[in-house]
Amino acid sequence: MKHMKSMVLREIRKAEEEPLVMEDLDTPEPSENQILIRITSSGVCRSNLHMIEGDWVQNGVPARLPIIPGHEVIGRVEKVGENVDYFRKGDLAGVQPLWTACGRCEYCLSGRENLCPNKQVTGETLDGGYSEYMLADARYAYRIPAGIDETRDAPLFCPGVTAYRAVKQARLGPAKEVFIFGVGGVGHLAIQFAKLSGARVTAVSTGERHRDLALRVGADDVIDPGRDYSGISKFSRAADRAIVFAPSQAAIDAALKTLKPGGRLVLGVFGGASSIPFVDEIEIVGSVIGTRKDMNEVLRLASTGKVRIEAERYRLDQANEVLLRLKRGQINGRAVLNP
Ligand SMILES: [Zn+2]
Ligand SMILES: [Zn+2]
Repeated sequence: MKHMKSMVLREIRKAEEEPLVMEDLDTPEPSENQILIRITSSGVCRSNLHMIEGDWVQNGVPARLPIIPGHEVIGRVEKVGENVDYFRKGDLAGVQPLWTACGRCEYCLSGRENLCPNKQVTGETLDGGYSEYMLADARYAYRIPAGIDETRDAPLFCPGVTAYRAVKQARLGPAKEVFIFGVGGVGHLAIQFAKLSGARVTAVSTGERHRDLALRVGADDVIDPGRDYSGISKFSRAADRAIVFAPSQAAIDAALKTLKPGGRLVLGVFGGASSIPFVDEIEIVGSVIGTRKDMNEVLRLASTGKVRIEAERYRLDQANEVLLRLKRGQINGRAVLNP
């Protein structure tokens, strides 16, 4: 049996306490519908940090311990199960958070498989990408088109599809003004997708480096709202749409204030609307990861160079350090591990 190096979460701990331990594990064997992937890039997501620190234990995440985190992955197919005809050894393959869905429920049957109650989530209900190898269900893995960098572009598979679906949910168009709150791993991609729709894009971020990144990837304007978001009052009723990825209630409240009557708020983070002015007929909608259709559209756009991942690269054994940097807001764009 071959061995692999993996960063394993054995017990919930704070990022400061080096929660992940590098272990030598048996490389798993793919069953009939699975593929084994030798990972070339694996993104580090803020939701990995939430899971590892125990913020989501009450929601059943992680579903088990020990677990290998990581849910945005690119790699080379190493082995295929006997029923797999979509992949061959050596192909480039990608895996997103939606590891598999049931294919039979009302959501799967209506093209909303990201809401499937029986879904498996990569790195949360089963082992993910902080590892040299991982298993994927071939029916929910993706072929990678030319033009995508296998050592950098794993983030297309979580922030990429998350940003894309949120922008779709915002129903943008050439005459629309959209404010995007939060310019991290997801936000910097949402800005690019929103620009492709023709909308005018204003990025809102409390961090100077993040505002620079927003301008670099094509935002028309940036706003520093101040730590408490009080600076946003100047932009009251300025936007047709607002999309929130900044993980704070203050950001959500500020986003609501920027909306014109009839506007639409898209939430890509946990939180609520503390007060909704019903007379303005504001719509609020959540957006969570994306379907296989969304994912394939993201890959198509990325392969033609229309969106670009800004990534910092790290070794697999630096995963603890990366989580800490992410917690402290010190990552520009996205961090990827290169096993
Ligand atoms: Zn993620
Ligand atoms: Zn289903």
